[in-house]
Amino acid sequence: MIIDLDTAGQVALGRLDPQATLVVGGGAAGLAVALGLEDRGRPVVLLESGGDPRDVEAQAASSKLNVGQVSGAPYRGLEGGRARVLGGATQLWHGQCTRLRDSDLAVRPWVPGSGWPLGPSDLEPWYTAAEAWFGLSGRGYDAERWAEHRSVSPIPWSPDKLQADFSEYTITPHLGSKHRRRLTRSSTVTTVQHATVVGVLVEEQRAVGVRLRDRSGAEVELRGGRVVLAAGAIENARILMLSDPEGIGLGTGRGVTGRYLQDHPVVETLEIHPTRRSWLQDRTSHLHRGRRRLYPKVRLSRAAQEGSRLVAANAVLVHEHDDPGLEAVRRLLGSAVARTRPESLRRDVVRAVGSVPAVARTAYRRWVRGLSAGRPSSSVRLQIWLEQVPDRESRVTLGAASDPLGLPVADVRWRLADQEIETSRVFSRWVADDLRSAGLAEVTELPAMVDDAAWRAQVVDAYHPAGTTRMSVDPAEGVVDTDSRVHGLDGLFVAGSSVFPIAGYANPTLTIVALSLRLAHHLAGLPARR
Ligand SMILES: Cc1cc2nc3c(=O)[nH]c(=O)nc-3n(C[C@H](O)[C@H](O)[C@H](O)COP(=O)(O)OP(=O)(O)OC[C@H]3O[C@@H](n4cnc5c(N)ncnc54)[C@H](O)[C@@H]3O)c2cc1C
Repeated sequence: MIIDLDTAGQVALGRLDPQATLVVGGGAAGLAVALGLEDRGRPVVLLESGGDPRDVEAQAASSKLNVGQVSGAPYRGLEGGRARVLGGATQLWHGQCTRLRDSDLAVRPWVPGSGWPLGPSDLEPWYTAAEAWFGLSGRGYDAERWAEHRSVSPIPWSPDKLQADFSEYTITPHLGSKHRRRLTRSSTVTTVQHATVVGVLVEEQRAVGVRLRDRSGAEVELRGGRVVLAAGAIENARILMLSDPEGIGLGTGRGVTGRYLQDHPVVETLEIHPTRRSWLQDRTSHLHRGRRRLYPKVRLSRAAQEGSRLVAANAVLVHEHDDPGLEAVRRLLGSAVARTRPESLRRDVVRAVGSVPAVARTAYRRWVRGLSAGRPSSSVRLQIWLEQVPDRESRVTLGAASDPLGLPVADVRWRLADQEIETSRVFSRWVADDLRSAGLAEVTELPAMVDDAAWRAQVVDAYHPAGTTRMSVDPAEGVVDTDSRVHGLDGLFVAGSSVFPIAGYANPTLTIVALSLRLAHHLAGLPARR
């Protein structure tokens, strides 16, 4: 059942199962926990600050609750990377999935703060479950995936330094749209929309419920069996701080709340001049097989990271296309679907007719050969995606400004480390060496390769915030334990990338869902609370 706090009000809340697990946030993490509990017959109340993904106006209004302030490096993910809507940021994302590597979980002496308190065998079954949850093939993310595309031979990277890397796209990325009908019909999960949680209720070292507000700002309390915060990495930390009169956090690891904020710094380092454009493009652009889509990449080997004291990283070649004919065809098709008139109908028709051979070639490449659409690229750049060194001073705190509900906003101080800059440059030089020695391309270094100020001016976050309620064995080093339970507090759990102690370079959401399914399994095994 889905209800709306604005219209259903307090009476409806009073009828909810007081033993239900209260899951705060209906993004990838919250949905995986809620549906994982539903699969095991456990009652859930899913509290979502936003509304129905189809209600675009309400979504725009709810998103104003994501306002915040930035006091460190520019951080576009604060507002641009979050969505207050059922499905959360998966209503915006592209759906690329991949696993953290075993070496990303290990302690690496040359990366301060590295290492997870969970090992590969703890995560393995949950990664497999998460891949099934996303409808992925489960065939891995390494060089063996080239076997599915025999018409293209892979780039011969120097294996001691560089290795093939893939991400696979989920076919149904928008999780709010995907699961809305199931939630509507569910008798086990009650979804309450437009219910913004503004604090956790704690009695005698035990979480007993939450404080929530509707869109008018009216506040109610809701009690439940347990509480799971799954509101995204920035908001999870903020809710813990808002729950504490001192604004620090909850539990015995409260002093760590909001600290160790990480993302994946993305920076372009090389302009690439291929000797055979389409040859390189075919090996570095999306590969299709039926509805499945793979993105071929290159990553730093574990040995190279250790040998040169680098953080983990991968890279893609970004191809830009200057193709007015294909763009005109896309615009005409888009207008036909939307039943609108294109701005320049005559010009687009002329261009589209002129591009018939290109369209035929694109269709052949895409549907017969499984290669990426588009003419040979007009410009190619190397784009590096980096792991970050966990930094205690890179953090989310409560800011001085207020959100539309009158509560302190999140202040984001994102920091970048010299080791990350160095990694991007060494990695880029190795890529350049391999491309040159194989006769595939010449390269020109971009300013970020030599000038730290240029690097810092150009780098952007990947909309992948993490680390703000990190997992640890010792409460002095983290906020949650290895069961994702807030240290020293009974009944309060956290789901999402905020629990990552170190975030690797991998797109985070497959790991978020793996950990959330693991948490649902753990919660279902706990005795009911009286
Ligand atoms: C443009 C873009 C592209 C991306 N591409 C990829 C990709 O290809 N691969 C990948 O792995 N990741 C990608 N990401 C990141 C990915 O979207 C996130 O990692 C993932 O969606 C996070 O899920 P989450 O549930 O932890 O958090 P969120 O998606 O942020 O969900 C949090 C939910 O909680 C709700 N909420 C927030 N505050 C409250 C509150 N106080 N009370 C109640 N509810 C609340 C929100 O409305 C939201 O529904 C991308 C992100 C963006 C923006």
